Amino acid sequence: MSATLLEGAPIAEQIKADVKAAIAEMGRTPKLAAILATDNKGAQFYAQSQGKACEEVGIDFELCELPADASQCAIEDKIAALNADPAVTGIILLMPVPEGVDGRALQRCIDPRKDVDGVHPANLGAVVQGSTTLAPCTAQAVFALAKASGVPLFDAPMDAAGKGLEVCVVGHSEIVGKPSALLLLDKFCTVTVCHIGTQDLKAHTTRADLLVVAVGKAGLIKGEHIKPGAVVIDVGINRVKTEDGKSKIVGDVVFDEAVEVASQITPVPGGVGTVTTAMLLKNIIDAARLQA
Ligand code: NAD
Repeated sequence: MSATLLEGAPIAEQIKADVKAAIAEMGRTPKLAAILATDNKGAQFYAQSQGKACEEVGIDFELCELPADASQCAIEDKIAALNADPAVTGIILLMPVPEGVDGRALQRCIDPRKDVDGVHPANLGAVVQGSTTLAPCTAQAVFALAKASGVPLFDAPMDAAGKGLEVCVVGHSEIVGKPSALLLLDKFCTVTVCHIGTQDLKAHTTRADLLVVAVGKAGLIKGEHIKPGAVVIDVGINRVKTEDGKSKIVGDVVFDEAVEVASQITPVPGGVGTVTTAMLLKNIIDAARLQA
């Protein structure tokens, strides 16, 4: 078998078109404020790409840089100011935060209606009820790619055979694995969540018609971990060295092996990440509507 590529671009383009139309209809320009209190190169790069994505669709972007040793109080004050600023539609707190600062406590300080990263407990909690409004962007991306793949997702507990999809999510982080699992569970999938403590990973992954992998370990999922014909959504982003001494980005799934077994697979890059960026823009529109 040779799997079809489940690319993120068509989904992302549709979301961006919807976002542009929504901005035109709103008659005001939304604004994203990103708080960066770190020298971490990855976070700086991520902030830059958020700025570019916003610019592309006509959303204002402000990078709020604080020192890499900023205190809890200083960051809380910044969040409070952005919460109170009516010109700011969405707030993102980039990770990592300075050593000794409680990132979770900071996430709780963000006004839930401006929490476009979907990290406030109120928004994470709404995912339990199947809500995708201000849900974590990557979980929404996984869900959108699952829908685009055509796997059976149900709003009610019945189909011809009376059974939902068998899903395995590898990775149980708060903003990727867990919310992805919950969104799929809400569509009557039977979801198994695996993690670092899972004893026999392969026993679970090979039962799945939809396999979502969000770990951050290149090569973790090989061809033998995949049920023939399954749809594979690879969330992982790993930089690995190539033979010529350069480096490249790969997922958690051994792509060359997986394409021989799966029916559809997301590329890395060009799959989940592409949709995740677009979902951030969609969340900014959702936030603007909540605040209107
Ligand atoms: P995390 O470190 O918070 O969580 C990793 C998860 O993997 C944990 O649940 C852990 O228990 C599990 N795990 C670790 N080793 C394992 C093993 N050997 N077997 C099974 N499970 C194991 O990571 P995260 O924030 O959820 O991100 C996961 C990956 O997804 C990373 O590569 C990250 O860069 C990537 N990511 C991609 C996007 C995107 O838009 N494409 C967005 C967010 C994260």
